[in-house]
Amino acid sequence: MTHVFHRNPQVELPVAARGEGPYIYDAAGKQYLDASGGAAVSCLGHSNAYVANAMKQQIDQISFAHSGFFTNQPMEDLADFLIERAPGDLDHVYFVSGGSEAVEAALKLARQYFLEKGEASRTRFISRRQSYHGNTIGALAAGGNQWRREPYAPLLMSVPLISPCYEYREKPTGETEWDFGQRVAGELETALIEAGPENICAFICEPVVGATMGAVPAVEGYFKRIREICDQYGILFIADEVMCGMGRTGSLFAIEQEDVAPDILVTAKGLGAGYQPIGAMLVSQEIFAAIVNGSGFFQHGHTYMGHPVSCAAALAVQQYIEENDLLSNVRRRGALLAEALTARLGNNPFVGDIRGRGLFQGVELVADRMTKEPLDPSLKIHARIKSAAMAAGLMCYPMGGTIDGRRGDHILLAPPFIVEEWH
Ligand code: PLP
Repeated sequence: MTHVFHRNPQVELPVAARGEGPYIYDAAGKQYLDASGGAAVSCLGHSNAYVANAMKQQIDQISFAHSGFFTNQPMEDLADFLIERAPGDLDHVYFVSGGSEAVEAALKLARQYFLEKGEASRTRFISRRQSYHGNTIGALAAGGNQWRREPYAPLLMSVPLISPCYEYREKPTGETEWDFGQRVAGELETALIEAGPENICAFICEPVVGATMGAVPAVEGYFKRIREICDQYGILFIADEVMCGMGRTGSLFAIEQEDVAPDILVTAKGLGAGYQPIGAMLVSQEIFAAIVNGSGFFQHGHTYMGHPVSCAAALAVQQYIEENDLLSNVRRRGALLAEALTARLGNNPFVGDIRGRGLFQGVELVADRMTKEPLDPSLKIHARIKSAAMAAGLMCYPMGGTIDGRRGDHILLAPPFIVEEWH
């Protein structure tokens, strides 16, 4: 009998007792290969001594000092580290405790930016179907995951949703990849005109879609067109890299591979690699200046923002990745993983698609490869795969996504960047 309110109280979970490298051990000593990093979090694996030392040193010095009274050195150093490597003119970093908080901050900052500029009519956001931006009320509203939204729909702001750049399901045969990307990006312009551009603050999307689709990158040219439309109508582009950022796709920021820069970039999971809860919002010089030269105050905040131990842990994680050139490993091992998945599952009658970037790979399951008919949701295949994998000592991240209201199952793999080659 447990007094913990677990998210799924019907499932009895093993106790995670110890971690080492890519493995977690339960209280009975059973080993699990962490091939999903939880949910794309544990990019360094477990019990990394360099990170543990940095956290210990920070706790010995100062474990907490409220950000309304003090800054702290690890927060300053982590901001420098990120900005020195960030795309475009992203110039300042706002630290929070996780992904949903980072998205909430981004939505509110976008709104406040336009208020500072005297464009008070801009209150709305546009996003995409089959997207996920977090579970708090604002972030949930900004996402297009019908299943997660449904119970709370009456509480959520209304957000026009455009098609995702989801080649496997949205591109008809006969249409070129380029034309497909331009067409679905063009839906942003249509949605903007319908809602009135003067009412829109920002467009938010994931550069590589994680939880709702299973590692789906956009086709070439898509993000360039998105950037053009945002500029043309004066709205902000928010890149949600909570899951796909911090090296997961082979570059520190996933959007770098699209050769465009967002106005706001949010990141979390891999930033602290699970050693501490932390999220970050990177903002452009122009947005920062609008606040500084306007009201002078961002009207938003949380108690634990810029927590010294979280920042020290995240800084150590990022330094470790860079000093050990782990992003090369992400690219090399990612290519091997994609090859192995194709070799072993490519002909499976229930595998419709295998896609991804770096160590962020997804396998989409279907009932019929020809028609792409999703599996019957009542079979709960994703839940069965998860428990069968756990029984076999493997952590993977199977999800039942939503395809036009129906569920489509996929398995997400996001192993730590330290993984070795295996056969
Ligand atoms: N944004 C994206 C793209 C995510 O994948 C997630 C979580 O999976 C979130 C936001 C929310 O992050 P968190 O669970 O840390 O609040």
